[in-house]
Amino acid sequence: MNKKTFTQPLIEWYHNNKRDLVFRKHQDPYRIWISEIMAQQTQIISMLDYYERWIEKWPSIKELAQAEEQEVLKAWEGLGYYSRARNILKTAKIIDKEYNAQLPTTYLELCELPGIGDYTAGAIASIAYKQNVAAIDGNVIRVMSRLMKDHRDFLKIKNKRELKITLESLMNDYNPSDFTQALMELGAIVCKPVNPLCSECPLQAICLSKKDNSQMDYPVKKIRPQNQIDEYNVFIYKTRSSLLVSSDDSDNLMKGLLRLPMLEVGTEIPFRDFNFVYTMKHLFSHKTWILNVYDVDTLTSIFSNWYFIPLDEIKNHSWTGAHKKILKKLL
Ligand code: SF4
Repeated sequence: MNKKTFTQPLIEWYHNNKRDLVFRKHQDPYRIWISEIMAQQTQIISMLDYYERWIEKWPSIKELAQAEEQEVLKAWEGLGYYSRARNILKTAKIIDKEYNAQLPTTYLELCELPGIGDYTAGAIASIAYKQNVAAIDGNVIRVMSRLMKDHRDFLKIKNKRELKITLESLMNDYNPSDFTQALMELGAIVCKPVNPLCSECPLQAICLSKKDNSQMDYPVKKIRPQNQIDEYNVFIYKTRSSLLVSSDDSDNLMKGLLRLPMLEVGTEIPFRDFNFVYTMKHLFSHKTWILNVYDVDTLTSIFSNWYFIPLDEIKNHSWTGAHKKILKKLL
């Protein structure tokens, strides 16, 4: 595979076959950022209305940075995964304040912004700023795995980095914006997850999986260990001057960090009056905590590893990440 057999036919095909999508009409980094995040939520066809309404309401980062979180969540309603919308707003405020309302121009600076990961930073850098940076998403992984009959797990950092280097060398000397969009488009409309349209593919002459009809064997699906879900009740009990805390770290997660009193769901609750406040999810690499947070009115008994700390010392302690979030929200 080289530029003559891969890049050249890919880009020619793109110029002749690309869909007429509204967000492709602009090279504005802001619009590309919003469209890429929305496209990660849903199919392109379903996101178009959201995208157009969003751009009409907030045509620039400056305007978006002034928005209220509730307005942004409303505009996102139906797309799901609301932390993405919150991150967009957070990032818009940072860009407004620190970058004069213009998205930063380097891949590394982009990666430092909330909600902008490796893929989105690569897409913005290559499509908007025409930099030689590959953007690797599921579509790209599927095309490249099938082309090369490659068994590697491209979600692993090392393999992804190697694929990035390959793509960036194939992109070199060509328009990075066309290259990135061509590969995405090929994955979306030709090299589809099921029933790939190989007879219409500009890369069929070099595709190894097409040769032996093994397209559907790629990308190789890795069996990942199941993520364990544990559900706990977490309690906030405070007096006028102190907060009840727990030193229990017997689960070996985040040893030595302070926690709020926490009991596995099903364990008898040693309080008399308590009110449910909200439920949150906290993700670790291998497990998920579901935490039901309760506000306690009356203390009836406590466990031996629970004790009080003065309220004005809360900030002096190191807390588990999940409980720090609860404290930040409620105290
Ligand atoms: S020939 Fe088929 S499997 Fe190979 S890249 Fe093209 S569409 Fe995908």
